[in-house]
Amino acid sequence: EAASEALADGILTVGTNAEFPPFEYVGDDGEPDGFDIALIKAIGEKLGVEVQVENMEFDSLVASIGSKVDVSIAGMTVTEERQQSVDFSDSYYEAVQYVILPEGSEIATAADLEGKAIGVQLGTTGDFIASDDIADAQVSQYNKGMDAVNDLINGKVDCVIIDKNPALVFASKFEGQLTAVDGAEFGFEPEEYAIAIPKGDAALVAQINAALAEIKTDGTFDELVETYIEN
Ligand code: GLN
Repeated sequence: EAASEALADGILTVGTNAEFPPFEYVGDDGEPDGFDIALIKAIGEKLGVEVQVENMEFDSLVASIGSKVDVSIAGMTVTEERQQSVDFSDSYYEAVQYVILPEGSEIATAADLEGKAIGVQLGTTGDFIASDDIADAQVSQYNKGMDAVNDLINGKVDCVIIDKNPALVFASKFEGQLTAVDGAEFGFEPEEYAIAIPKGDAALVAQINAALAEIKTDGTFDELVETYIEN
């Protein structure tokens, strides 16, 4: 099978939003770091290309794939709506939305979320749940999940809906004040993270899936999970 044209220049440009620990965040050196960044660099190594990461707003990633960047890795959930505009690699991580609550909050069930002030990150699956599925929710959309969490601390929203691992990281910054609850208790469905690839670039999907499969069998994947997620 022919190699993807996207790799012909020897460079894989990758869009991310480095505001989503532990998957991506800005490291001490000012550069994007995290599980996803290490994973895509490992994939680049397998493919023999240099990886260049571009940090941008989450909400602009899908539209940038195939134009500003070759692919995106950003804890991005595979959704039918996104599949209208991009293709996805095999999934590499299972996630679920969590609900961050102030300690002592009375929110405990899906019905309790109705009519509440909910903070989300703009254009994320947490945003779609709050905006589309929760009756009468007053949704505040932020470019950064951490800004939503700060407004939860300030009492401007009643809860924040965001992916499990970032929820755990953000809540742990306010131990004793915030608690992160598994969204399964609110009926939220599991989600799958995958790398978003320009629609129709079957060669690139195949190349990335092959590299991902190697990374899973040679132990690299588990090492990255241990280093970035389960530490
Ligand atoms: N998994 C969520 C989504 O795809 C959030 C991703 C993110 O904020 N980086 O919408």
